[in-house]
Amino acid sequence: MTKLSTQYLEEAIEDSRPFAANGSVNAALPTFDDTMKELLGVTIITPDFKIYRAGDYNQYVPMQSTSKIIGLMLALEDFGKERVFQTVGMEPMGDFFNSISTLEAPGSDKPFNPMINAGAISIASLIKGQNVENRFDRYLTFLRDITENDELQMDETVYKSEIANGARNRSLAYFMQSTGTIVTDVEEALDLYFRMNSVMMCAEDLARVGLFLARGGIDPDGNTLIPAHHLRTVKAIMLTSGMYNASGHYAVEVGFPCKSGVSGTIIGSVPGVMGIGVVAPAIDDKGNSTAGGALIKKLSKDLNLNMFGIE
Ligand code: GLN
Repeated sequence: MTKLSTQYLEEAIEDSRPFAANGSVNAALPTFDDTMKELLGVTIITPDFKIYRAGDYNQYVPMQSTSKIIGLMLALEDFGKERVFQTVGMEPMGDFFNSISTLEAPGSDKPFNPMINAGAISIASLIKGQNVENRFDRYLTFLRDITENDELQMDETVYKSEIANGARNRSLAYFMQSTGTIVTDVEEALDLYFRMNSVMMCAEDLARVGLFLARGGIDPDGNTLIPAHHLRTVKAIMLTSGMYNASGHYAVEVGFPCKSGVSGTIIGSVPGVMGIGVVAPAIDDKGNSTAGGALIKKLSKDLNLNMFGIE
């Protein structure tokens, strides 16, 4: 078995970089264009806080859908599992992450799971606070605590573009209002969701979220921020739905919980072993980073991280 080292990680990056050619950069995101296609950065942090970095690990990008796991943690903390899963399902969905038709599927009165847009917007509608600023403040404080990075913040340009390009998400939200899935203010839920997507992160910040999950909710100072039983739920749902409609493929080929975003972000969490953060902006048609996906598959195989066993 390969031993984790910075040199190994640098070689793994070079092996994975060519997979960027199979994807394209999400031009809907401000400042994102083809010049970013070859970027690939990774950070791995182990429970004893050893840090391994390689490639473009300093590149900040909007966290996008990796925010969905943070929202789920807060909602579980606010309401507990039973209430949260009255609002959103916990089953995988074989459709695209922003699908609207599945909201209307016979027998489905709620979004399939919290990792798709509809599910995350309904989760945002639950997060407690007096107003959207206060609710977002809770989210950001929690994120800063987990990552130990007090400088994390939302990018205004990204936020404005989420609003400007948010017709699809608005349709999902208003549809869910019509079926009674969203019972609080719809515009406020959307506003919170847009802000959550717009927080800028680099590979190390993402790795720290993965590590927080891997350590069962204990922050770097040893405080329990979220009970481990809630994180068990989050990790299980990441494994079954975190990579959208490629989650089954990643469960087989990677075998640990992951969450992707359309900025090419991936958070990986190997329980008890490590947190992984990846930034590689070229994504495939399902919304997952191509080079990033290749990299986590390689890491899983080389470092023997698949919880279901070796290949
Ligand atoms: N901002 C994107 C959206 O709401 C995030 C989706 C994603 O990362 N998959 O559609």
